[in-house]
Amino acid sequence: MRLCRFDNNNYGIVLGDRVHDITAIVRRVVGHPADDERGDPVIARLDALKKALHDVSSLPSRPLAQVRLLSPIAHPSKLVAAPVNYRAHIAEMAKQSHGGATGPARSKDIGEAGLFLKANSALVGPSEGVAIRFPNRRNDHEVELAVVIGRRGSDIPMERAYDYVAGYALGLDMTVRGPEDRSFRKSIDGYAVLGPWMVTADEIANPESLSFSLTLNGEPRQNANTADMIYSIPRLIAFASSFYTLWPGDVIYTGSPEGVSPVKPGDLMVAESPAIGRMEVRVRQHQPG
Ligand code: MN
Repeated sequence: MRLCRFDNNNYGIVLGDRVHDITAIVRRVVGHPADDERGDPVIARLDALKKALHDVSSLPSRPLAQVRLLSPIAHPSKLVAAPVNYRAHIAEMAKQSHGGATGPARSKDIGEAGLFLKANSALVGPSEGVAIRFPNRRNDHEVELAVVIGRRGSDIPMERAYDYVAGYALGLDMTVRGPEDRSFRKSIDGYAVLGPWMVTADEIANPESLSFSLTLNGEPRQNANTADMIYSIPRLIAFASSFYTLWPGDVIYTGSPEGVSPVKPGDLMVAESPAIGRMEVRVRQHQPG
């Protein structure tokens, strides 16, 4: 199932080129979560939600092209991200770092460099676009497979990692290049794009053989397959959960393949994966205030 959030915090199921509104059902299933509940309350109740959904195609619907797509996850407890996770991208970053802009830590193995966090407040959906705050600096797109955690887990063994996955989406780990701490440069409002929706795990036959791509203004930039990841999805989940408890709705950006390139206001990024879908993300200028 393809679960999306759209317009005014509505929830929908995408069938073909239409969005069927399940907001009332989501509200009923979620009820009133306890004040101290952690994680995203919708993703935490995904199994109950699936059971409550009958004959979705008969629910009121709108054309996908006419809705404003938000991040499919409203309230993750955190956005975890892997640094470079494809060998060709390591080579690419090493070449670019001769200018001193990226720093030496980028070429380290993930086990050595660790994962990092992006601020939750950076999270947007495709229709919100990415607002560039510092147009005179280099701002790059990084298209990545995003893994959405489905249930609470700590010290998750690799062999059971997939039991903890709710679904998958496309992520854009937007980045302003420079000397500051990575979490600072990658947490600008809008610099964590998630969408176009979450495809539940049962519909992804093999997440370790999933192709995805990004074009910029129609020109191919990134084109990759998760089979080429250095740290696999289970290894990332095991590693992340050895440091943090993972909660329903937490997102893991699994690292960028090669082909990152600068964007500027007015550009159009299109991220696509046959198994997930296609999202158009407009780049614009940040409006102060
Ligand atoms: Mn990245």
